Amino acid sequence: MLNIGCHLSSAKGFTNMGKEALSINANTFQFFTRNPRGAKAKQIDQQDIAGLCNILKQHRFAPLTAHAPYTLNPCSADPSIRQFALETMKDDLERMELLPHNYYNFHPGSHVKQGVEKGINLIADMLNKVLKPEQTTTVLLETMSGKGSEVGRSFEELKAILDKVDLSDKLGICLDTCHVYDGGYDIVNHLDAVLNEFDAIIGLEKLKAIHLNDSKNPYKSHKDRHEVIGGGYIGIEALVRIITHPKLCHLPFYLETPNELEGYAKEIAVLREKYNAVLC
Ligand code: FE
Ligand code: FE
Ligand code: ZN
Repeated sequence: MLNIGCHLSSAKGFTNMGKEALSINANTFQFFTRNPRGAKAKQIDQQDIAGLCNILKQHRFAPLTAHAPYTLNPCSADPSIRQFALETMKDDLERMELLPHNYYNFHPGSHVKQGVEKGINLIADMLNKVLKPEQTTTVLLETMSGKGSEVGRSFEELKAILDKVDLSDKLGICLDTCHVYDGGYDIVNHLDAVLNEFDAIIGLEKLKAIHLNDSKNPYKSHKDRHEVIGGGYIGIEALVRIITHPKLCHLPFYLETPNELEGYAKEIAVLREKYNAVLC
């Protein structure tokens, strides 16, 4: 069965996200741990969490992904911004233990003129401070499109971060189809070659989740603008080859396409149908 969901707003609480996911035939979803611009997180309501846990168990959901705020920059040149990233992630990971055994995804950061090597070192430093041997959450580094001075634009950069982290068994990768295509990995014409490259550099066992997005911009554009499924330069055929690929089809897929709930429901229906036509 295809494990698919979309990004949902956490404004109405955890139980409601579970209900919303069910209403669009999703069996997983992604949400922001707090305002995407990084405000203070809301107090957690235990009963609300318990309501969601019931839904997850009853409907056998695939792992959820919590997304860190975009503003986190663990490799900023400004120590106070780095400190904010560290404290936010530490707090988020403590809260994630209320929803154990799920994923926490973050953008590695932007090195802004310090150079990629310095950026990689700072990101690994933060991870070495926040990861705990007892945590059940796997922290995912997201593949980036390489706009500006983003770190994580290549498999080599992500691998360099993993290699510098002591508890690297707590880490994995989330591949964003829009980002890698914009970043210069041709998943439309050479999917197998890209996966072989990922496997040789990082190891496919580290790939835990996929952000399934089309792209408003062509290959290698380094832009990062998501498009609805089938409406962009990647196209529906290539996206179906991704969800049905024998090395990927078991992963959870999260849509981050420009849609309201109704649009997500349609994309999920289409993708489930295409998946079942190939793999059932
Ligand atoms: Fe992201
Ligand atoms: Fe993404
Ligand atoms: Zn993006």
